[in-house]
Amino acid sequence: MSRRVVVVGGGLAGCAAALTCADAGARVTLLEARRRLGGATYSFQRDGLWFDNGQHVHLRCCTAYRAFIDRIGASGMVAMQRRLEIPVIRPGHGVAWIKRANLPAPLHLARSLGAYRHLSLVERMQLGRALVGLMRLDLGDASLDAQTFGDWLRARGQSDRSLEALWDLIVLPTVNLPSAEASLSLAAMVFKVGLLRDRSAADMGYTTTTLGRAHSDQGLRALRAAGVDVQLGVAVSRIEVEPGGELRVRRQGGDLAADAVVLAAPHPQAARLAPAAADPDAARFADLGAVPIVNLHVIYDRPVMPYPFAAGVGTPVQWVFDRTEAAGLSEGQALAVSLSGAVAYAQVPTEDLRQQFVAELARVFPRAREAQVRGFYVTREHQATFRQAPGSQARRPGPRTALPNLFLAGAWTDTGWPATMEGAVRSGNRAGEHALAALGLSTPVEA
Ligand SMILES: Cc1cc2nc3c(=O)[nH]c(=O)nc-3n(C[C@H](O)[C@H](O)[C@H](O)COP(=O)(O)OP(=O)(O)OC[C@H]3O[C@@H](n4cnc5c(N)ncnc54)[C@H](O)[C@@H]3O)c2cc1C
Repeated sequence: MSRRVVVVGGGLAGCAAALTCADAGARVTLLEARRRLGGATYSFQRDGLWFDNGQHVHLRCCTAYRAFIDRIGASGMVAMQRRLEIPVIRPGHGVAWIKRANLPAPLHLARSLGAYRHLSLVERMQLGRALVGLMRLDLGDASLDAQTFGDWLRARGQSDRSLEALWDLIVLPTVNLPSAEASLSLAAMVFKVGLLRDRSAADMGYTTTTLGRAHSDQGLRALRAAGVDVQLGVAVSRIEVEPGGELRVRRQGGDLAADAVVLAAPHPQAARLAPAAADPDAARFADLGAVPIVNLHVIYDRPVMPYPFAAGVGTPVQWVFDRTEAAGLSEGQALAVSLSGAVAYAQVPTEDLRQQFVAELARVFPRAREAQVRGFYVTREHQATFRQAPGSQARRPGPRTALPNLFLAGAWTDTGWPATMEGAVRSGNRAGEHALAALGLSTPVEA
């Protein structure tokens, strides 16, 4: 009888871990508390239309996520732009494009940033100083996590307007905090890996269908085809260590014995579920905190945005995506406005958000002034990511615990990436490899 790995949590990290183990021949059971897979990425139907809980974007450099999408057979449900091209709209001041040229990095951005009309000539010239500074940073230097990206930028001559009109455009959606609060370590990682090393790294991708179809439905199909016993709607209440070192997973409907466990639940739950012997200092990751993301789903009676997506500056509209096809809307346009670092919006009533943002969208897209709003829905994810502020790095554990057969996975663990789908899949792959090594099904993995 092959040895059993139990994976707790069916988000992207848990699905990746389960596939890694099953593909190597382990007997795998995946327990997920909800009645679907996909964790923090999901979809729901309202008034006959489909909505994602929040717009999800990945970049060409997200190699683990893209390989995962291929593995679950969902690559036909994902679009990737041929070349980075982002229209950035400042109401009343037109559109500036962030585009890449066919030059080696970092020169691929030089022309577009040199002509970036939302900054003055002096501000544009100062960008070079910060970009060169970023290229020189060593991402392995732990002291980067002791300061905010905003302080670091200001010390390199970046103005308030540069922070708002350029740096935050990238930092907010990737680190889920503005530069003024984000850890330098994570923001620097985003710029170095996403923008400055390879000219195609920042090309943007997103699902053309719903997240539910791409991640949950395809994920379930792939896991079952790989022989994983997927149990949905089954919450784990505790993981215990048996006297012989085997693990016992307590769940509704009876316990499960496991030779190895990958615990891929969010950090507060992981801290609660892990046996004390796994990490006597689990409080450090239980306290990683949370930052919300709010999405506004606006249905217009006609097309108002002439781009697949756009970013805004000088407006609270951060990023907007055309979701008409994914929503299943046959007439008009469905927009998703994504608000990251959304502490200021998470508790605001829907009607107030509607008033504020329908007016803002009319400033951003002139065609929206004539259009009728047919529907307005809000999704609030209060714990979208952990708080990726200075000091968070030291709180993120690696996949190994003090127990030889219990491993941690999740976007919140120490992946070197911000809390993203890429980080989740990387962590799952890694924890899966450790579990296989613990069972003697593969060679030991480095820490
Ligand atoms: C609105 C929003 C927008 C985002 N935008 C982006 C984006 O554009 N790009 C990007 O890369 N990332 C984005 N993210 C982040 C990304 O979604 C997450 O980092 C990633 O999906 C986390 O995956 P995970 O597997 O680590 O955790 P989760 O998805 O949280 O999965 C953990 C799973 O564990 C389960 N679980 C918990 N407790 C138990 C238990 N006791 N027993 C059994 N199961 C349990 C949960 O139900 C859940 O399914 C966004 C997140 C949100 C919320």
